Formats: sequence, C-alpha cells, structure tokens
Amino acid sequence: MRRDLDQYLCAKYPKIFVDRHADMRVTAMCWGFSCGDGWFGIIDRLCGNLQEISDRTECQAVAVQVKEKFGGLRFYIRSGDTEHLNAITEAENASYLTCEECGEPGRLREERSWLRTLCDRCDAIDLVERQVFSRKDADPARLMTIGPGAEALVVAALIARRPRSRS
Ligand SMILES: [Zn+2]
Repeated sequence: MRRDLDQYLCAKYPKIFVDRHADMRVTAMCWGFSCGDGWFGIIDRLCGNLQEISDRTECQAVAVQVKEKFGGLRFYIRSGDTEHLNAITEAENASYLTCEECGEPGRLREERSWLRTLCDRCDAIDLVERQVFSRKDADPARLMTIGPGAEALVVAALIARRPRSRS
C-alpha cells in the first residue's frame, strides 16, 4: 500500500496501529499493509468500526498483521472479542467484491497461478503485464482475446507496473 495511505491509517487509528513500527519479533505490522491500495476504503471503514467497538467494550483491538492472502484481505488482531471478529469477517468478505488495485467492484480471479480479486480493467492490465514481462503463467492465446484494446492495455500495464508484496 502507498506510503501516504499507510501513514493516514496509522495517524487516524493510533491505538489499533500502535505496533506499526514495533519489532518483528512481536508483530508483523512492521512490514506495513501488505495489500493493494484498492482496499484502503475497506480497511479505513473496518478500523472505524473496530475503534468504536474497542471504546465501547474497553477492549482495545491491536493489529498484528494486515495482508492479502488467496485473493482476500486478512486482518489479524492480538486482542478483541467476538464483535471485533465479526467486523473483521465483514471487511474480509467485502474484499472479495472489491478490486485490490483500484477499489472498483471486482471479483475473485482464479485463472492465474495465484488468486487475486480484481475489476475487469485491472484484470486485463494484470494479464497483459504477465504477457509483457513473460511470467510463468503467460498465455498468448488469452492476450489475443483482449482484442483491439490490447495495445492501450500494454501501456497501462507498463504505467501501473510496480513491485507487489506477496505473503
Ligand atoms: Zn481495478
């Protein structure tokens, strides 16, 4: 996730992200938010809910890891009750309907070597990106099915290309 979005979340929810820069022996939050920017809105809403529950129940939720796994959001806390966990489940379910890259409506894509939740456009860009950079699961036949827009998508893929954290 982009640095400014990361900093925004930590500043807005200091109690939840109190371990953001703590030692790796006690938390995985030191690695930051290991997911795309498209889920920023989901995480922001979730943290609003978690803080409200924490204040009301006097049981403060503290994040230990936030990441993408098998195409969905994972948000782990080291304290909290059933109400906290229900809020997290709701957010994780929402992530499977939201493009991890851009935040538009998306769906789980299962045609690649790992699962991702993407909108049609980001899926096309991701696919072209694979063709352009010759990933292992590249399939030239699928590139052809994109049709006349393929060239523009290659350009978009080049622009969008950035390292992604995987876990
Ligand atoms: Zn998208």
